[in-house]
Amino acid sequence: MSDKKLLLHICCAPCATGVIQKLKNDGGFLITGYYYNPNIHPTEENNARRNSVKALAEDENIHVIYSDLVMVNYWKENLEGKKERRCNFCYSIRINQAAKTAAENGFEAFSTSLLISPWQDHEKVRRIAETACKKYGIEFVYQDFRPFYRQGKNEAYRRGYYLQKYCGCIFSYNESDHKKKPIYTHWD
Ligand code: SF4
Repeated sequence: MSDKKLLLHICCAPCATGVIQKLKNDGGFLITGYYYNPNIHPTEENNARRNSVKALAEDENIHVIYSDLVMVNYWKENLEGKKERRCNFCYSIRINQAAKTAAENGFEAFSTSLLISPWQDHEKVRRIAETACKKYGIEFVYQDFRPFYRQGKNEAYRRGYYLQKYCGCIFSYNESDHKKKPIYTHWD
């Protein structure tokens, strides 16, 4: 039986490292990545994370489709306030766009590296992805990848990938008290 063509939404290189390693170990998948994260602000930060995904693609020998869309103004104008509402929108826009792209480009299956992160609302990500895959008529490959998070992150560190200091959007940047948070003055 031939491997299943799977489109993996990649939120960042450190998370995708563990997911790709797990899926490769499982076998049965021909993985293509999809970098679509308009929630990562500003463009400078988005580029840093995107560049690490490029390095990951080379290291893992996988093809990745990239989107350069950054929606900082949308976030600022529409999503200030309750974290739950903005994260809900954030998961939805990324997962739906990725599942739609998978269906339109002949992929048989879909998954997302968001499922490895202990920092994200795992059950919400799962529900949104299930609904999106049903809508676009594509198989959702669900796994709770969280036990592989630490191992993947260590490997990402070893490979020299960029390790972000905040979730992604301008609001999470403001909320982060990480000592090594980059200083951004231009929010475009
Ligand atoms: S905190 Fe993270 S998941 Fe929530 S809206 Fe911001 S970038 Fe998206």
